[in-house]
Amino acid sequence: MSIPEGQSSSLFPNYARYPITLVKGQGSWLWDDQGHKYLDFMSGIAVTNLGHAPEKVTAKLKAQLDELWHVSNLFHIPNQENAAALLTANSCADAVFFCNSGAEANEAAIKLARRYHQKVKGTGRYEVITFFQSFHGRTLATLTATGQDKVKDGFLPLPAGFKSVPLHDLDALKAAVTDKTAAIMLELVLAEGGVLPVEADFLRAIQKLCKEHGLLLIIDEVQTGMGRTGKLFAHEHYGIEPDIFTLAKGIASGFPTGAMLGKAFLRDAFSAGSHGSTFGGTPIATAAVIATIETMLEDRLPQRAAEMGAYLKEQLTEKLASNPHVKAIRGLGLLVGIECAEPVNDLVLEGQKRGLLFITAGPNVIRLLPNLYVTKEEIDQAVSILAGVIHDHTAVKKD
Ligand SMILES: *Cc1c(COP(=O)(O)O)cnc(C)c1O
Repeated sequence: MSIPEGQSSSLFPNYARYPITLVKGQGSWLWDDQGHKYLDFMSGIAVTNLGHAPEKVTAKLKAQLDELWHVSNLFHIPNQENAAALLTANSCADAVFFCNSGAEANEAAIKLARRYHQKVKGTGRYEVITFFQSFHGRTLATLTATGQDKVKDGFLPLPAGFKSVPLHDLDALKAAVTDKTAAIMLELVLAEGGVLPVEADFLRAIQKLCKEHGLLLIIDEVQTGMGRTGKLFAHEHYGIEPDIFTLAKGIASGFPTGAMLGKAFLRDAFSAGSHGSTFGGTPIATAAVIATIETMLEDRLPQRAAEMGAYLKEQLTEKLASNPHVKAIRGLGLLVGIECAEPVNDLVLEGQKRGLLFITAGPNVIRLLPNLYVTKEEIDQAVSILAGVIHDHTAVKKD
């Protein structure tokens, strides 16, 4: 049931919701309660990477629902072991901790970095350096790590032990490192912050700095992970191996799950009893993780994301590059941003009226996140609607 306009809701008003109630999804398509059909180029914000209601994941979840929903992490959980083994077999990581969200995965990464320095190395280091325009979550620690003031407004005092510096400013980064620094944490495409890819040279410099000072390198792959950028994990593009990386959004096709992955030398830092989560890696959640990863590998979805991402950018450039409203088209794989000269929120609403769902990344950037099975026909359709929306907006401005 949707709440008619003007009527009060029993929910906190912390989300500015669009005037649409979605009730069904299949593949790239969503339907609302009025029977309107939408082409989905946001995927629940990079969550439904396999599209809506993916067959294999649905089947595996249904089977697991009949067997066992939940047992405590005080017991062995075969699905959790198998999901972790799949992740380590297909990444540079050696160990996995399962949780329920991106913020919780980053929280675990921060805790692991502190505990490694304090309990294993005995250096007592605790500080984590992050970057302006980053986004790492909404818990107190992760919103403090986030390099955007808007998420901190009204939540003082913030926890100690975090510092942010401008992206691609190596001097500022070097100046921020002290004998208290434990880790440097970053996304490789700053997604919420405007779809800003990190330059390879800058990442190499960070890696060097980490080696010189004994710092841990944490990559937040909550949005860039799970095939989205054209590799299973975005750090593969850069040829680096982070000490820790985090996943959530696309990891279980929409079942709420997160994961923190680390190198073998970090294992002892999370000794028994040091960290935990009641719902982390339940039989159901990890059934969804296994089915999602297996499907992704079988159908070579990272490669598909690279191909379709290149096609999407090519089509956007062809149809939009000459528009005076469009300043830049950028991204990696199927995480694509269109930077405009002015705020884009009206364009999002107009897109919805014309049957296309997409989102923003900061005030002036349109963010496109189709599922990884998206077809060229669907891309053509989306680009055509988008070009129309932007063209009409520019034309109106001229009148
Ligand atoms: C969405 C996101 C988070 C937070 O994930 P939640 O599941 O909402 O807690 C953290 N980091 C990045 C890069 C994200 O995109």
